[in-house]
Amino acid sequence: MHRNGIRSLLLSTTLCAFLSVSGAARADGLTPDQQLAHDIYKELVEIDTTTATGDTKQAAEAMAARLKAAGFADEDVHAFSPVPRKGNLVARLRGTGKRKPILLVAHLDVVPALRSDWSVDPFKLTEQDGYFYGRGSSDDKYMAASFVTNLIRYKHEGYKPDRDIILALETDEEIFDHDGLGIQWLIKNHRDLIDAEFALNEGGPVNLLNGKAVRVNVQTSEKVPVTFQLDVKNSGGHSSVPRKDNAIYRLAEGLVRLSKFEFPLHLNDTTRAWFARAAQSTGEQTAADIRAVLADKPDAAALSRLSVIAPFNAQLRTTCVATMLQGGHAANALPQLATAKVNCRIIPGEPAEEVKATLVKMLADDEIAVTQIEREVASEPSKLNEEIVGAIEKLSHEFWPGAAVIPVMSTGATDGAFLRNAGIPTYGHSGMAMEPGDAGRIHGRDERVPMKSFYSGNDYLYRLVKMLSGGT
Ligand SMILES: [Zn+2]
Repeated sequence: MHRNGIRSLLLSTTLCAFLSVSGAARADGLTPDQQLAHDIYKELVEIDTTTATGDTKQAAEAMAARLKAAGFADEDVHAFSPVPRKGNLVARLRGTGKRKPILLVAHLDVVPALRSDWSVDPFKLTEQDGYFYGRGSSDDKYMAASFVTNLIRYKHEGYKPDRDIILALETDEEIFDHDGLGIQWLIKNHRDLIDAEFALNEGGPVNLLNGKAVRVNVQTSEKVPVTFQLDVKNSGGHSSVPRKDNAIYRLAEGLVRLSKFEFPLHLNDTTRAWFARAAQSTGEQTAADIRAVLADKPDAAALSRLSVIAPFNAQLRTTCVATMLQGGHAANALPQLATAKVNCRIIPGEPAEEVKATLVKMLADDEIAVTQIEREVASEPSKLNEEIVGAIEKLSHEFWPGAAVIPVMSTGATDGAFLRNAGIPTYGHSGMAMEPGDAGRIHGRDERVPMKSFYSGNDYLYRLVKMLSGGT
């Protein structure tokens, strides 16, 4: 039943596109613009761009070729390849120059996908039961394909925006650009080419619930990922003469303490607004709990009830969780080393040093050494302005009537942090409408997006970027 809901909702938006801009429909039901979006999407999904083993250079060059074939001048399309197999694309649709440009960002790389895990080939775009299946179909090739398609549409129309529209497709987002070859490489080497008043990026989808759009998310900030390593060392010995000071036990006891520990409540403007809106679409008890937590003196019982709900808990505080465990070197030897990795997602504004100090205090064991093993990239939340919120609200009302537009703090990390730190306010906002079950497949097996959501999201972004660049 809910699928009918999606269909009728999205059909109306598709129809709008058909009537207003897309010309005659084809025999298979796709307009020429939709066909173009489909073909670009298929081409992108079918280039294996797995971060460690795939080829984002090939994808960047394929998109550059598409843009040049559509009439973009060579000087406005740059496919860069900092090292073999790694590519970034920057393209520019020239406007009147009245205002500072807009930057559209999407990443080309994808997380690994094993054919044996999937029910279909992850590197073929499979259309099945109303869905597009493929690795990256959602994260993030939907946005990459949409932006390329829309730039070509604007070009074909002769659209003259009041500001340049810049597209940046980059590599290595899925490894948080730790080799500096993706967004950081562009910021460092070609800042002039991507400089903009603000950027649109991944990170803020539209939430469907049983076919009905309930929330339109605008990501303005993200938690800061940091991993710590916990080590317990011991002189070891023969396992036939066990002692009380065992490295594995010692570490395990520390991890049990961690499992019961909660960081203090830490809300900010974005999460306060998010919870206030969330209260409108939850059950009565939860809504009351949210109000009690948002109050000047947060209620402890309400807080502990909300903390049981994992997505809420992640918005309420910094979290740290054990993700890897290793110990010992032989079955008949006392362990000389036991090691755990603890992945933290820190609320912006809390220094990683402080989180480390809290962990050390909570573990309360001098034998457990705590080391930060990756540098943190903290970023300030991007402030929303009236023009952006106004355009998003107006269009959302048309595409997803009744759904609330909500600013969100992502618990995951994106390249938005690098852009925000480079002084380019960045909003995660995709226009992709998905049920929670489909969102749960991102990075997992059988990643997919509803075909109707793909086309309507593509059209939504087309309209939104136009509205933000002086068009209608
Ligand atoms: Zn992504």
